[in-house]
Amino acid sequence: MSRSAHPAGPRHGDVLPEGHYAAPPADLNALDPKVWSATVERGTADGIVSVAGLDVLTLAERFGTPAYILDEADFRARCRAWQDAFSHLDADVYYAGKAFLSRAVVRWLHEEGLSVDVCSGGELTVALSAGMPAGRIALHGNNKTRAELEYAVKSGVGHVVVDSFEELARLSWIAHEQGVRQRILLRVTVGVEAHTHEFIATAHEDQKFGFSLTGGDAAEAVRRALTLDGVELAGIHSHIGSQIFDMAGFEVAARRVVGLLAQVKAEHGVELPEIDLGGGLGIAYTSEDDPQGPQEIATALTQIVRRECAAEGLAVPRLSVEPGRAIVGPTAFTLYEVGTIKPLEGLRTYVSVDGGMSDNIRTALYDAEYSVALVSRASAAEPMLSRVVGKHCESGDIVVRDAFLPADLAPGDLLAVPATGAYCRSMASNYNHALRPPVVAVRDGQARVIVRRETEEDLLRLDMG
Ligand SMILES: *Cc1c(COP(=O)(O)O)cnc(C)c1O
Repeated sequence: MSRSAHPAGPRHGDVLPEGHYAAPPADLNALDPKVWSATVERGTADGIVSVAGLDVLTLAERFGTPAYILDEADFRARCRAWQDAFSHLDADVYYAGKAFLSRAVVRWLHEEGLSVDVCSGGELTVALSAGMPAGRIALHGNNKTRAELEYAVKSGVGHVVVDSFEELARLSWIAHEQGVRQRILLRVTVGVEAHTHEFIATAHEDQKFGFSLTGGDAAEAVRRALTLDGVELAGIHSHIGSQIFDMAGFEVAARRVVGLLAQVKAEHGVELPEIDLGGGLGIAYTSEDDPQGPQEIATALTQIVRRECAAEGLAVPRLSVEPGRAIVGPTAFTLYEVGTIKPLEGLRTYVSVDGGMSDNIRTALYDAEYSVALVSRASAAEPMLSRVVGKHCESGDIVVRDAFLPADLAPGDLLAVPATGAYCRSMASNYNHALRPPVVAVRDGQARVIVRRETEEDLLRLDMG
């Protein structure tokens, strides 16, 4: 069924045979609080969905469609939940900016006490320009350019997560030239690939990121880092996958990372003070998904790290985690207007909306699953097996592959796809010269555009004629 490798993995164990679909939900008007942001509700009298006290009809009229509607209170609450779960444990929470980054988001993160991961000069500029202290920024990437490294060192970023031998030498030289010592982590690949409900422990690490632990590159990188005068080796970093629900993969990763710390102590007499176990924690895209909360994750991770350190006779290092999706993913939905409806007798109904793969590439790219609901009114009509598709010139332009929508759906109705806060706007494209939608932050009855909609002038400005 899957046409491409899904970084979030197939939904193991509950893949339905071709042509069979889960039963329609008992109530098409219900909004599962697991999937929708905290302040979303359907009006009991008029059936219109609202968020932060603002109804979607008003939002669509004011800001147009498609639009990403981001629930600021929910975003801040998730930041606080992560911060509270980890901060008393001698641990830091880095928000992975690639999930979605804007200056407003950086300010919220700063106010809520989180740090931020960036993986390009562009993300670094956004983080710095919104006032995130450089010391609370970590720079990632498997091929940071010389310019990006110089910029990061000059800005005083707290950590550079070094990914290769070339980068280690380059960074040390750059820091040396600037007369500073750059604090670094070494990214290692621990031979664990974790997606959704499964993880695979492999002997080899067939991927572009990091230093292989089993191949001995990680130990060699530590050896070099300890002798270079431009860098200060603070610890080890590992990131094992995405949309993970099962802590078993982290357990294996932590064991292997702590094993490396023990080896470093034995070889060099040095106890590295930090480990970073990355991000990748799953969220509910549909009612089938059951993610753990930050408190459970914090407890599980710290227990694992403490146990492994005790077994190796090491002091427990400072721990970092890097949730991106788990913070921003559930806080937004994409609001679309239905344009055309094409029923195919005995098969399904194609429902075309005014966006598509340009604002949500994840379905086309990863076979990602999403939910969808009619939000501009309630309906008592029968469920209709539907496929929500976009307006792009591409038959793979699918937003929600299989969904039940009410059979009286009509052009002009508004649909919302929840859990689009992560990896939708940040991966949005101008395919077909689409104008990338705005991100509208809503809070306490107020709405504010935090990233504006692109205009045709924006398109023409880049086109030099
Ligand atoms: C992508 C990424 C993350 C965040 O992943 P999520 O699935 O959004 O939590 C964290 N750390 C690194 C190194 C990453 O590449």
